[in-house]
Amino acid sequence: MSVDGFPLEGGCDCKAIRYRMETRPLFVHCCHCRWCQRETGASFALNAMIESDRLTLLGGAPTLVDTPSASGAGQQIWRCPQCCVALWSHYAGAGSAVSFVRVGTLDEPDRLPPDIHIFTASKQPWVVLPPGIPAVPEYYDRAQHWPPDSQARGAALRARIQAEKAAASPRNPE
Ligand SMILES: [Zn+2]
Ligand SMILES: [Zn+2]
Repeated sequence: MSVDGFPLEGGCDCKAIRYRMETRPLFVHCCHCRWCQRETGASFALNAMIESDRLTLLGGAPTLVDTPSASGAGQQIWRCPQCCVALWSHYAGAGSAVSFVRVGTLDEPDRLPPDIHIFTASKQPWVVLPPGIPAVPEYYDRAQHWPPDSQARGAALRARIQAEKAAASPRNPE
């Protein structure tokens, strides 16, 4: 284990899927939107955003489930094929390069408390937010909230995604 306590391991209920989060995530969202409430059957979702190449599958083969999302563009949720627990997902914005890991599936979920509370406009009224943690009614501006090292990682990731897109697009015949 490194100085900052990473990597961390996690998995599903039936243990068919095991994974490792290699480094600290970019940012941890506690999302109070109605979609996350439905998907968890609870009051909010806790998602650690991380570059997908910093997630290592240690065992099993998760199944990709296309799921509707608030934006209409959909969310791709990776689930255990046996117990169907959701492990991480991709949203249309960043695509498969960024994974939103369900913090509750980590062996030590206490290690990743929220960096921000989002979509608090639909927060269930009994949930009392802690003082000192940013909370916004809907989404937020990364430039304003992410720590400098996450901003740098995010910029590197965006550059890589653009380069890959450029390489994949067919050459203009003219
Ligand atoms: Zn399972
Ligand atoms: Zn949400």
